[in-house]
Amino acid sequence: MSQKNPFQNYLEILENASKILGLSSKELKILQTPNRILEKEISIIGDDTHEKKFKAYRVQFSNARGPYKGGIRFHPEADIEEVKALAALMSIKCAVVNIPLGGGKGGVQCNPKILSDREISEISRGWVRAMADFVGPEKDIPAPDVYTNPEIMGIMMDEFEKIHGKSAPGFITGKPLALGGSLGRGTATAQGGVYVLEELIKIQNGTPEGMKVAIQGFGNAGLHVANILHSLGYKIVGVSDSHGALYAPNGLDPQQIATQKHEKGGLHHIYCEGNICDAKKLMADGVQIMTNEELLECECDILIPAALDRQIHEGNAGNIKAKIILELANGPTTPEADVILEEKGILVIPDVLANAGGVTVSYFEWVQNLANYYWTEEEVKEKLKKIMLSAFHDIVEFAQIQKISYRKAAFVLVVRRILEALKFRGRV
Ligand code: NAD
Repeated sequence: MSQKNPFQNYLEILENASKILGLSSKELKILQTPNRILEKEISIIGDDTHEKKFKAYRVQFSNARGPYKGGIRFHPEADIEEVKALAALMSIKCAVVNIPLGGGKGGVQCNPKILSDREISEISRGWVRAMADFVGPEKDIPAPDVYTNPEIMGIMMDEFEKIHGKSAPGFITGKPLALGGSLGRGTATAQGGVYVLEELIKIQNGTPEGMKVAIQGFGNAGLHVANILHSLGYKIVGVSDSHGALYAPNGLDPQQIATQKHEKGGLHHIYCEGNICDAKKLMADGVQIMTNEELLECECDILIPAALDRQIHEGNAGNIKAKIILELANGPTTPEADVILEEKGILVIPDVLANAGGVTVSYFEWVQNLANYYWTEEEVKEKLKKIMLSAFHDIVEFAQIQKISYRKAAFVLVVRRILEALKFRGRV
């Protein structure tokens, strides 16, 4: 595992882009420095009637191109360096898909798995109360991220409206449809990734049939991408969650696995109780139990990290067998691993492009909320495809001309876009 934290990784990628662009030290400094860092404490009364305290974060990285935009993560390992890195990546990502939004990110250091629904609801309201002066439809628009969901967004919107005494659906995206959510938002991250993956395979003259896909993470991003790719004829050979992975060389039906996971409480529990696994059932289904680490190195054509950051690092990049990596997670590959993957000729569709479908449809949701006029799912998908393919071709063409990786090309292109906005504002 890389010793560097996610923010140091962001700085390294930025510095590489800066060398290609020949940025001045003033320009580089602006791109390295968040506009505002909010670190607060949330206090709730737990179900055991004792007070529980949690660290809460919001980093507003850049609003050069529009209001800050970015999700809120509930995770035991959420910390300020991670939130800073994710906020920076949001600024880059919104510029990659060329939408008029900046970058921010939030988090609460907590473990939702050991909290009750009531406690999670109190934490969600606490986050909004702590940040209320700094967020809002024209300032900073949050959204879901790891272990937060549409229900939590609904509760947060309710708290925001209570504080400000007015309706404000545009305060937050990823809401349930009943509260002004957008059709297509649930599957947007995965769908956007699939649009660019299919386009890459098309320009390589490949076909999806039988292409083997392994996916790390089986949540919003991971499960939806598994389902969409399965329906398009790809073979889903591996899936995983925080407890471990299932690998099946002949393919898995992701929806069936999801149903069983839901019934049993985890992928691992479909076949095992504790350390004891049902060998007969495993054999009958043609499934092997693997660790998350083994899954990343399994035999497959396409690897999709869709869980946490820094999963592909210098310790395992050399063992990766996939030919394409579609980064649905944020920051899943360290800069050291990037060098190894490039040497091996593995094509990485970088996070700032691969998972930008999520923020793109979040942008659509915000636009619909502000206009109070709602689109059909077909309209959403059509507009999403157009934006994703345009961003993809910008990056691929630039990468080919410059002979650089897609990640470097994405950063160089959008650092230019952000600097252009900063110049017109007279800030550089
Ligand atoms: P989620 O909470 O819905 O799912 C996370 C999944 O990761 C779960 O299946 C969980 O079991 C698994 N996981 C957790 N720790 C793991 C570990 N150590 N090893 C393997 N799996 C582990 O979250 P999500 O919304 O699907 O987000 C996943 C990734 O995609 C994150 O990096 C997130 O920032 C990124 N992303 C999500 C969206 C979105 O719209 N949901 C948009 C852009 C980026």
